[in-house]
Amino acid sequence: MARAYNFNAGPAALPLPVLEKAQAEMTDYAGSGMSVMELSHRSKEFQAIIDAAEANVRSLMGVSDDYAVLFLQGGASLQFATIPMNFRREGKTADYVDTGSWASKAIKEAKVTGSTHIAWSGKEAGYPRCPKPSELDISPDTEYVHICSNETIGGIRYTEFPKVDNLIADMSSEIMSRVIDVNQFAMIYAGAQKNLGPSGLALVILRKDLIERESANVPIFMRYSTHVENASLYNTPNTWGIYILKLVTEWLQGLGGIAGIQAINERKASKLYAEIDSSDFWKCPIDKESRSIMNVVWRLPSEELEEKFVAESKKAGLIGLKGHRSVGGLRASIYNAVPEEAVDALVAFMKDFKAANG
Ligand code: PMP
Repeated sequence: MARAYNFNAGPAALPLPVLEKAQAEMTDYAGSGMSVMELSHRSKEFQAIIDAAEANVRSLMGVSDDYAVLFLQGGASLQFATIPMNFRREGKTADYVDTGSWASKAIKEAKVTGSTHIAWSGKEAGYPRCPKPSELDISPDTEYVHICSNETIGGIRYTEFPKVDNLIADMSSEIMSRVIDVNQFAMIYAGAQKNLGPSGLALVILRKDLIERESANVPIFMRYSTHVENASLYNTPNTWGIYILKLVTEWLQGLGGIAGIQAINERKASKLYAEIDSSDFWKCPIDKESRSIMNVVWRLPSEELEEKFVAESKKAGLIGLKGHRSVGGLRASIYNAVPEEAVDALVAFMKDFKAANG
């Protein structure tokens, strides 16, 4: 079987054992005579799937009963809109940290519905790093502080999270890749299509007391309380996505949970950064302490060489290495499901490319 070395930023590589299990169960899930896609979302078979998915998220991440675990539609982008609608009360302010493209999109959406204070911005410097907690200028009466914990396009991540009362984090591109303390956050959310499963599904971990702030002016479907009260089954959810997320979380448990995958992720990232740092031919524009271990970005001496690198790597079976169109350069997304062997193949390709073009 031919499997590409897939470095796509999202949708991205999924674990092969998960795809194989889904394939084996495709036409007859657990003796039901139906695919998961054909099951009623109100059936006992699907209820068992969503219950297991939630239990896996809770045990892997250490999520207490103070938090709801939700499986929602609209991706991470809908959360950009619904967070301020629900949790920033009339006449109040919310704080946002601007670390790059995705943090900026959340800010843009927050500004549509109310007062938005920028607690820190890396924009003028070209977003080379995440801020230290002490650098943030938080409004005294802020409703919450929003961060993007890992910038998928910029390739930066926090080493230390801000210590504030109501911290909300977009963890789309690094969820379940490293051990974090959920209790530091009021809310964590992530689009599934990088580390959790297919697109069209967002995982939301929400401290339940936040719901008390909700206003009756928010459309019912856009209220988090609606989805908490109905345990993510208010309407028809992305049943297939939840099923794959259940398989992905089982796969993670088999690897020793998040601590297990973190060790693998750190090893993969350090192999790639070691090659990048080994020569002036490559240049990583990110400050060392902020370097992401999920999205590794780097430049070559010219755009022509970057184009050549992308074309030749593709021919060698290495897919998705072109940097995002807004920033250029190269990017390797090395999410949980990207095998170490793929990183080894990339590093070997880089060494050959450097020898031929350096
Ligand atoms: N936040 C981050 C950090 C992302 O990387 C992305 C998608 N690349 C999004 C939000 C938007 O996610 P979605 O497409 O699921 O709305």
